[in-house]
Amino acid sequence: MKRLGILLIAVAAVLVAPAGAGAASKERPREPFFPRAGNVGYDVTSYEAELAFAPKTGRIEATAQIEARAEQRLSRFSLDLHGLRVTAVEVDGERARFNRGRDKLKIEPRTPLPAGSGFLVEVRYEGKPRTVVDPDGGREGWVPTYDGAFAVGEPLGTMAWLPCNNVPNDKASFEVALTVPSRLKAVSNGRLLGIERGGGRSSYTWREPGPMSPYLALVDIGRGELRGGRIAGRPSWTLIDPLQEKLTLPVLAKLGEVIRFEERVFGPYPFETVGSVVDFEPSLGYALETQSRPIYAFVPDLTTVVHETAHQWFGNSVGLQRWPNIWLNEGFATWAQWYYAEKHDGRSAREIFRALYRVPASVEELWEPPSGHPGTARNLFATSTYVRGAMALEALRIKVGTKPMLRVLRRWAAAHALANANIEQFIAHAERVTGENLGPFFQRWLYKRGKP
Ligand SMILES: [Zn+2]
Repeated sequence: MKRLGILLIAVAAVLVAPAGAGAASKERPREPFFPRAGNVGYDVTSYEAELAFAPKTGRIEATAQIEARAEQRLSRFSLDLHGLRVTAVEVDGERARFNRGRDKLKIEPRTPLPAGSGFLVEVRYEGKPRTVVDPDGGREGWVPTYDGAFAVGEPLGTMAWLPCNNVPNDKASFEVALTVPSRLKAVSNGRLLGIERGGGRSSYTWREPGPMSPYLALVDIGRGELRGGRIAGRPSWTLIDPLQEKLTLPVLAKLGEVIRFEERVFGPYPFETVGSVVDFEPSLGYALETQSRPIYAFVPDLTTVVHETAHQWFGNSVGLQRWPNIWLNEGFATWAQWYYAEKHDGRSAREIFRALYRVPASVEELWEPPSGHPGTARNLFATSTYVRGAMALEALRIKVGTKPMLRVLRRWAAAHALANANIEQFIAHAERVTGENLGPFFQRWLYKRGKP
């Protein structure tokens, strides 16, 4: 994620804007920041959703099929779902009893599911999906726009339109079919499998083999031309709101170069498809690295495209085990912006680091909370998560040298590709790759309060 405004404008933009950059199982304990999110006892392998959207009323009518594996004997289980009315639930083809709790759909299959068995849940639901307000006041979930709607899910918003196991470390494949009035387009993650037209409506079916954390699922419905093609050697689909098109196209023309640059630095691009969605919702003010196809709620600048693209490696492929490890996403994507600028006639990452390091300890916004220990969900996307977080990586580069530091990043992306990892694993990994004792270094940069 990258927010407009708060981040580099307050403390850092004046100092550092790079030149030319434009402006629950046993292994799954409760999520520390969102103890209500996620469910125990099973692991999802795939989501298949069919969702019809009526822009006039803002309502959806949907069916979700969720394939999962029981990790223990299950006489009941739950899914995360925010709002909406559930009309029927089946488990393995049999009607199941269900009821609702706060942001939960609780299901009781007719016969208990044995440990280790695969099972299929079908949920029918309808209603007007809602926006979710985060602990820091940010908005996500289902966001209405002037010509349609979009859905963004970091950290919790996907439950506003899909019953799911809403934690980053239960990844699954996603297939999403979106039915909309024919004047509109509908986009999700991954590959476009097909478009069916009839009765004044069009259905767009998208498949992301992933695996993908639920928070990275994308829905975008609106006007515009759906552009297919190839970018950086991969099939690509892009939808741009017509109001944003003129200013957006020149920026997105550089996406192929950005992907190829990041492949050289971080290793092979982790997914099958690429693309972008640029919608128009000025009140939202951020971009999100939705898997294989980031979404921008405004005309992106190049440095934001670099940031969201870097998340495809750090955040999407190497996913979080738990939200407090957010540094592994945001520190890395921010450092990628600095390194891209350095290699494209901007300021060097070292210069940016030095300028920031001159910021006094009294400017707490930059230094608190420490990036490796955000403390509460309110601080998940704090300035320090990003800026101090990127400084930690540049400090590592200063300490061990550029080549070893890049080797650490590349091998990290490879070792945990399409999986989930945590900060302790990163520290151990960095020590292994460099052969240095980095415990005290990371203690200072990631965990110590105040200016390191
Ligand atoms: Zn980000």
